[in-house]
Amino acid sequence: MIVGVLGLQGAVREHVASLSRLGIESRVVKTTDGLDGLDGLILPGGESTAISLLASDGFMSRLRTMASSGFPMFGTCAGMILLATGIEGRQSGHIGRIDITVSRNASGRQVDSFETFLDIEDIGNDVPAVFIRAPYITRYGPTVRPMASYKGQCVMAREASILVASFHPELTDDTRIHEYFVGMVRDNEI
Ligand code: GLN
Repeated sequence: MIVGVLGLQGAVREHVASLSRLGIESRVVKTTDGLDGLDGLILPGGESTAISLLASDGFMSRLRTMASSGFPMFGTCAGMILLATGIEGRQSGHIGRIDITVSRNASGRQVDSFETFLDIEDIGNDVPAVFIRAPYITRYGPTVRPMASYKGQCVMAREASILVASFHPELTDDTRIHEYFVGMVRDNEI
């Protein structure tokens, strides 16, 4: 199994490190060719506008096609914004594959960053989560499964092969969320 980590901008190395702690081979992907032969893809946090501008149209359209065909993707923070169908204040999504609307920077400014512990459906309790200018999920469709909330706000969800989190699991030593995604990738291969 090889899991790609979108490497245009953001917390790329940290996801690679989390995967390697689980013994999973990964590849940093910056171009369309880099997507060949992958079994799953992580879209890291950073700045969604920057990531979308750095990605070529061809690259974005290939990501859209892959996401539509059931290829497992996990978006954290800015990565979640890229995967959302709706972004408050914007007319359209970027990859737009999970039926949620997100509110960017809903958790506050950089100086308002915080770490907390979440109880996550299907994953476990007291999972550490780092929020940095995090988006919240303000709407989710009927086929989306909400998995965690923070102060009444939905912060993690899954729809079929797409998993998203408002926060950064890769900035902690806890690998349970990555393990869960690796399980999704495995299930997809069977
Ligand atoms: N606020 C950023 C955005 O809108 C996301 C922040 C993050 O990924 N830590 O893209």
